[in-house]
Amino acid sequence: MRSTFLPFSRPSISEADIAAVAEVLRSGWITTGPKTAAFEDAFKDYVGCARAIALSSATAGMHLVLKAMGIGPGDEVITPAMTWVSTVNLIVLAGAVPVFVDIHRDTLMLLPDAVENALSPRTRLIIPVHFAGASADMTELGRISQQSGVPLVEDAAHALGTRHKGGHVGREGTAIFSFHPIKNITTGEGGMFTTDAPDMAEHINRLKFHGLGVDAYDRETRGRVPQAEVWEPGYKYNMTDIAAALGLGQLARVDEFNRKREALAMRYRERLSEVDEIYPLSIPSDTTQHAWHLFVVRLDTDRAGLGRDEFMAGLKERNIGTGLHFRAVHLQKYYRESMGMKPGMLPNTDWNSDRICSLPLFPDMNFADVDDVVEAIKDILSR
Ligand SMILES: *Cc1c(COP(=O)(O)O)cnc(C)c1O
Repeated sequence: MRSTFLPFSRPSISEADIAAVAEVLRSGWITTGPKTAAFEDAFKDYVGCARAIALSSATAGMHLVLKAMGIGPGDEVITPAMTWVSTVNLIVLAGAVPVFVDIHRDTLMLLPDAVENALSPRTRLIIPVHFAGASADMTELGRISQQSGVPLVEDAAHALGTRHKGGHVGREGTAIFSFHPIKNITTGEGGMFTTDAPDMAEHINRLKFHGLGVDAYDRETRGRVPQAEVWEPGYKYNMTDIAAALGLGQLARVDEFNRKREALAMRYRERLSEVDEIYPLSIPSDTTQHAWHLFVVRLDTDRAGLGRDEFMAGLKERNIGTGLHFRAVHLQKYYRESMGMKPGMLPNTDWNSDRICSLPLFPDMNFADVDDVVEAIKDILSR
């Protein structure tokens, strides 16, 4: 057994990252400023998108886009239930109805046919998730969006560096990325909103800072007048330069991080092929670059004679951390009780929700760590 605990995730912070943050702290300007502007530019260059707006989190981005689109009572938003709770919570907080759609059993991506069947005259938005760092079926979803006139906002929290048919996720359309500490790059907390629609970019930019057309940095350094006016009530979701300085250093290393993640994932896939009770996800064929945000497996609970929660506890006893991405949103207390959701309504989502587990995966791990995880799994399953 391992003598030290292997966490499920750990950010990779270099001395240069620390120095860059210290420089901002000493500079006299620590909120939104030159580093945030440089981070937005670097992000735009990397993803190839028209506009990138740095925010305090991906959740903030989702809040802003629902607000910008005027989504509220009487509206429906199509989303998977196999996602992080933030998206669904925000739909409900906006007064709209989340319409849960089932996913592919082995990629966890929205099923385009099910999306098509869920469309109604009230549908205002479709929110696919690029799960675990692979890409959702954007060709089919794009076709459905075109034909129905219902826009897409891509949840790209797992997908920095992901390519769909050769193009970066986020290059076209509207997408939201996250820089939470477990994501492929981190700013502590943070997010990026990307869009190819100039009107949407202007609207989000305004809503992120009190509904003013400008922020403090614009006023101070870009010669804009300080007497800015509120165009509409907005929020306070801007990124700080402290966070952006970290983001700049992290973004410069994202391809290196993702290459390491990929090598570790390949090692997992090879070693776990020896273990009959464990099913890794399958990789969609149109994902031409996988970001390997998570290494997700499903435990065959019947064959193993063991529940997923016991499996996770067993790994923890053996000094190995795991994550749960995700317990399906529709089966959580509030959604069961308020929407009458029951197991069986989304068969593939339910099946995964009971069996899913994320194994340790982060750039500073090595193959010996992967082997330790696989040995611990074999040990648990042989009991
Ligand atoms: C992490 C995550 C989010 C939220 O990101 P924050 O930056 O923490 O707000 C949204 N969706 C998915 C699928 C995520 O994994």
